[in-house]
Amino acid sequence: MVTVVLSAGYIASIIVAFGVGVYVLRGNRLTRPGLAVAAVLIGTVMWSAISFLGTQRPFTDTADAPVRALFWSAVVVAGIRGLVQALNNPSRPWKPLDVLALIAHPWALGIIAAFPALHRIVVVVGDDGTLTYAYGFWIHSAVLFVLSTAPLAALLSGRHGILVVSGKARTVMLAAWAVPAIGYVVSAMVWGPSGPNLTPALMVFPVAMIGSAIVRDGLVDKVPLARGEIFESLAGAVFVTDNSGRVIDVNAAARAFAREIDGAEDLVAKMLHEVCPRTARILDRGGEVDVPTPNGHRVVSLVTTSIGDGKGVTVGRCVILRDVTDAVMQRRELERMRDALSREVEVSEELRAELGDQVIRDSATGLYNRRFLAQTLPGIVESCIAQGSPLSVAVVDIDHFKSVNDSWGHGVGDRVIEAVAAVLKRNAPGGLTVRYGGDEFLVILPGASAAKAVAIVESMRTACMELRVDTRDGPVQVTVSAGVATLTGEEIDVDELLEVADLALYRAKEAGRDRTWSQAGGVV
Ligand code: GH3
Ligand code: MG
Repeated sequence: MVTVVLSAGYIASIIVAFGVGVYVLRGNRLTRPGLAVAAVLIGTVMWSAISFLGTQRPFTDTADAPVRALFWSAVVVAGIRGLVQALNNPSRPWKPLDVLALIAHPWALGIIAAFPALHRIVVVVGDDGTLTYAYGFWIHSAVLFVLSTAPLAALLSGRHGILVVSGKARTVMLAAWAVPAIGYVVSAMVWGPSGPNLTPALMVFPVAMIGSAIVRDGLVDKVPLARGEIFESLAGAVFVTDNSGRVIDVNAAARAFAREIDGAEDLVAKMLHEVCPRTARILDRGGEVDVPTPNGHRVVSLVTTSIGDGKGVTVGRCVILRDVTDAVMQRRELERMRDALSREVEVSEELRAELGDQVIRDSATGLYNRRFLAQTLPGIVESCIAQGSPLSVAVVDIDHFKSVNDSWGHGVGDRVIEAVAAVLKRNAPGGLTVRYGGDEFLVILPGASAAKAVAIVESMRTACMELRVDTRDGPVQVTVSAGVATLTGEEIDVDELLEVADLALYRAKEAGRDRTWSQAGGVV
């Protein structure tokens, strides 16, 4: 009965291992984890096959088969170690020393198996043909357990952070491996080399588990990522320090930064401000920091996180430093351009205002010019018509101005025009004062009745009379004549107004100057 169960176990192990092996080979999955899995499978198949033969005819007289079984058990364990190593450190290439460490154990057992004279190191054949394990077997077993436990313990602790095998999968994996390990101890202790060996039959569990991991999770297809690898290859420089400022860990970018800034090489376990003082000062600042380096100006951005011990106590800090030179330089250039542009806009606004004023004003007197009058008068007329209010116009002309020029010179003449203009402007609140040409001015008085307009113009005239323009040869005095016209509401017509006002002015001149002539014909 025991033989039948055991045989079934061995055959199951062989079939499962063979199936998984075919799947791995068919997919050409001879990656590093793939090769390690292959070693586990081949070892299992061979170990189970030898043990199966043992069930048919128990091993006596010769240690050949048990020794070979031991060799394949060593191959299985080497495969397990290779698998865990490959998953833990995916980017680390297999170095000759690593390979040597992996194959040393199966190699030693291979030598023993190959030379019958050496068999007695592990299995002794008694005088009656019975087999017993020798000291070498116990050494082999100890080595086997140490070698297989160490990588599995690493796997369990998650020290290297294998991402592809985690959580529940890890627990299942360990449980699956524990079963044949217990079988190994029981078989060795209870039955010895001639008796049945449970281990290869129980290998069906870990092999099935490997198979499911390969089929379901793509164990050997995935490029497993170790957390350490990610940390190391991060583009940002990561500095981890304890509370005293001692460096706990740095990644490749951080090492490169400290080398460039401070020429520092080994940072770990040293005080950051001692081994790279400039870097330490940069890390103490936050946000964006300008860093002059031997290779040009750089800008780095810093993010600092404090590290807790899980109980709320801060045990250190992690600073991530990123090179943001390009982005910041671009931004600064844009800001500079924007400032320059807004300054230019300001200047051109001022210029525009100034130019606009020049276009509508007479430069000598500051009064509005005819162009402005032409633009605004229609609007004024329109609003007077709309409101039904009167619109008065006065034409004011300096009397005998020609003689001022002749007697005092053009310069004095100019100053007289300026002075008269200032008087008109001052005396026409709410009105529009325009230099109409030469010594002639136009005063537009919207809303002013004829009487009101005459009163305003009279006040202008009397103010002009009192004007004194100082010269080297004494003060110059002038008088002005004015013609006033008024129309109201619907009847307002600009041409008519100007014509009538002109006529009134003519009358005032004719009547002896220094007076205001209103439309009504009366001299004021
Ligand atoms: P009336 O009383 O009839 O108006 O006599 P008037 O001498 O003022 O005669 P008129 O209006 O014909 O002469 C205007 C003179 O004003 C002619 C021109 O030389 C002079 N004049 C015109 N513009 C200017 C100016 O900007 N500056 C100076 N200094 N003289 C000017
Ligand atoms: Mg004149």
